[in-house]
Amino acid sequence: MSDPLRLAPPWRGRAGLRSQPVLLNRTPARRPVLRSRRPAHARLWLAACFVHGVSAPSLHDRALGAYLGFAIGDALGATVEFMTAAEITVAHKVHRNITGGGWLRLKPGQVTDDTQMSLALGDALLAARGWDLRMTADAFVGWMRSRPPDIGNTCRRGIRRYMLDGTLSAPPAEDSAGNGAAMRNLPVVLATFNDTGTLARCSVEQAHLTHNHPLSDAATLTLSRLTQLLLLGGTISDCRRCVGELLAQHPKFRFEPWPGNTSGYIVDTVQTVLHSFFRNDCVEGCIVDVVNRGGDADTAGALVGQLAGACYGVADIPSRWLKQLDPRIVERVRRQTDSLLALPRPLPIREPTPIAPPLPAAA
Ligand code: MN
Ligand code: MN
Repeated sequence: MSDPLRLAPPWRGRAGLRSQPVLLNRTPARRPVLRSRRPAHARLWLAACFVHGVSAPSLHDRALGAYLGFAIGDALGATVEFMTAAEITVAHKVHRNITGGGWLRLKPGQVTDDTQMSLALGDALLAARGWDLRMTADAFVGWMRSRPPDIGNTCRRGIRRYMLDGTLSAPPAEDSAGNGAAMRNLPVVLATFNDTGTLARCSVEQAHLTHNHPLSDAATLTLSRLTQLLLLGGTISDCRRCVGELLAQHPKFRFEPWPGNTSGYIVDTVQTVLHSFFRNDCVEGCIVDVVNRGGDADTAGALVGQLAGACYGVADIPSRWLKQLDPRIVERVRRQTDSLLALPRPLPIREPTPIAPPLPAAA
């Protein structure tokens, strides 16, 4: 942390590296405010790291970067959630500081349902020391009872259903293609970072507690898989390949050129997040780019913060954002990151018990 040479990606031109002959064919300066191109490939970065004796972010740096990037995207985006890009420009020029406010009238640094549901899911994983779907459902119930500042309709409906009948899967529904399941899955990725099969199973199970829709499933799996790839040091080309598989199966998610929609519909969210992730080359660039498009800005900001944080590592997060974010959230995120990465592997899985044992047959 203290030594910028050790952690900062060279192309950022951070202190101590700007003047060095980094082997990248570009200068990091003069990047347009809302757009930063990525001519620098992650492999080049690794080569530069090698030449300069700089180490690439470790798994822990990437995991913490993902979780803090997620919470920061949420806190920054919440201020402009449901505004249009034009309204944001009038109000803020470029919105780039965590100031609270917004339609939820948040305190500066406060996060919303995106981060809170993720923390609830992470708490359930840690309490179970593995995967226990019923404990996860109970954690969501506990969160809903805590009177959170906001809650999506599909999440509310799903948690209510579980409270009423104890079932662990929402019935398939055309109107459950919101982004509420994909947005909260990061703790599952951290708990299963080296295990694609368990990641897929737990992701879909937690998603179906509230959202049972093939597009939500596909998005949840792809965003989680991308995060996993990045945590393990995957390159942007690896991410492109992974996204290619999603597009082959569900061409609806095509995001180049960006269709321009920013709603909470999972297709709009994924398009916005991927478009921004691939055209920016730092955490700040990705998050600022996304939230200034408005719409479901906190959720899209959180998700792109998750990908960018996993890609560039915690050292790439601007320190002003870490100071602006609620310190209690920073602390919980740090603790959860450490503990989720330290869970036993393979992740123990507890099959959910039926709610009530079947009645014995009448004598
Ligand atoms: Mn939110
Ligand atoms: Mn939102």
